[in-house]
Amino acid sequence: MKQFHVQNFIAGQFLGAQSQKTISNMAPATNQNIGSIPQSQKEDVDLAVQAALNACPTWSALSSNERSQWLSRIAQGIEKYFDDFAALESLDTGKPISLCKNLDIPRAIQNFRFFSEILNQSPTRYYELSQSFSYYRRKPLGVVGLITPWNLPLYLLSWKIAPALAMGNTIVAKPSELTPLTAHRLCQLLEEIGFPPGVFNLIHGYGQEAAEPIVSHKKVNAISFTGGTATGKQVNQTASQSFKKISLELGGKNPTLVFSDAPLKQTIEGVFKSSFLNQGQICLCGSRILIEDSIYEDFKMALIKRIKECRIGDPSHDDTNFGSLISHAHREKVEKYVQMAKDEGGKVLVGGQRPKLVAPFNEGAFFEPTLVEGLDQTCKVIQEEVFGPLVTLQKFHSEEEALQLANDTGYGLAASLWTQNLSRAHRVAAKIEVGTVWVNTWLLRDLRVPFGGVKASGVGREGGELSLDFFSEPQTICMFTGSSQ
Ligand code: NDP
Repeated sequence: MKQFHVQNFIAGQFLGAQSQKTISNMAPATNQNIGSIPQSQKEDVDLAVQAALNACPTWSALSSNERSQWLSRIAQGIEKYFDDFAALESLDTGKPISLCKNLDIPRAIQNFRFFSEILNQSPTRYYELSQSFSYYRRKPLGVVGLITPWNLPLYLLSWKIAPALAMGNTIVAKPSELTPLTAHRLCQLLEEIGFPPGVFNLIHGYGQEAAEPIVSHKKVNAISFTGGTATGKQVNQTASQSFKKISLELGGKNPTLVFSDAPLKQTIEGVFKSSFLNQGQICLCGSRILIEDSIYEDFKMALIKRIKECRIGDPSHDDTNFGSLISHAHREKVEKYVQMAKDEGGKVLVGGQRPKLVAPFNEGAFFEPTLVEGLDQTCKVIQEEVFGPLVTLQKFHSEEEALQLANDTGYGLAASLWTQNLSRAHRVAAKIEVGTVWVNTWLLRDLRVPFGGVKASGVGREGGELSLDFFSEPQTICMFTGSSQ
């Protein structure tokens, strides 16, 4: 198996951890070792922050047009090595190569291109009174820390890097230690295109050792974090000690509401995708399907049939559409929830097992897409985020009951709702307590609109102008124009 020995990227140099310690990187689909990453600690973070501080005056002094051109060059570079990025993402995560080619890598390119473009279109706000006018400009924050999870590695990292660079900040980033490869490949690309050293710095390692020192560092002025709610809480506590600006994109327990007038074929396909894309490991996946009682049985049977058509196995095959989970530890967590569902009185309708695969995939962290019915709203499997291919079915009789079930968890990230009734779509969407509601679709993203969650799903919004706002400090300039006397 080819080995990838990933290194930190600090001031434009590839470096190991100062302690020389490393962590093995395993491919989740085969459980084979594919290399190592530095086990970085505070001393490595200190170096990276210093590099970012040194680079800040020059980078922030570039015109927005020049920064926009850099973002565009990065997008072009990822496009040039598209297959390479896709293969690395698939190897590192165990997700199907088709998903990397259709979602992860195109979206990373789009993130850079999008912020390159809106940077030049973003208006200056100008306000006039009789004897004065005011305008405000967005100033860079300085050094910002970006912390990202393993489920959509380059997609989520680039969603933060692009607006942070656009606004003239310099960066210290830490990806999940489970998925270092595309972040490292991005650094190689930055070196190749002559990107200014120190503007983007990457630290690898465990969260506690390598990300926590970024969050607590006095010279880091903002943290954009995407990850689990428990970690987000910790990050929030640490960051607030030094009054950092903070954005938290956290977990979800998203409802999918299916009304009886939804066209069955199209809805099944949409709901199947929202339940199981990326093996259910997307924060936006709909893990609780709520179905109007009059169509419950028909919908259930059609969904089971669709799930059985899944092609599970070698993620590098073009026709595989269901890969492995991120790790054996994560599979064990999902299995615990399946057992819990049974203990809580649920019935497994399909899945619930490790699939039988040929070597070397028999050693991988695969788990079948699983559907459970018969659970009460208070059950842990209904209330807690599993973040895997475990989805529950529940019945509702009225719109009010659907809403009551939909809103009855601690999370509030996203929902999808399936109906042909236009008034109901608007009425119900407005009452669901989440950051995003999709109607008759899922995961369709216009990058200009706000993205984020309520309740335990996060604090703040990113997306379009809001990302530019987050990664900058508005400064008001008020000019007295006086009277003509
Ligand atoms: P974690 O919260 O475990 O980790 C997220 C990142 O935080 C990782 O880089 C991790 O490093 C790091 N980290 C861990 N401990 C600390 C700490 N004390 N201080 C600072 N950083 C730390 O999440 P997962 O990687 O397991 O990702 C899955 C979670 O992410 C799910 O809950 C999912 O819902 C959520 N998510 C939310 C999204 C959203 O937009 N709302 C999008 C995608 C995922 P390490 O991996 O080394 O521990």
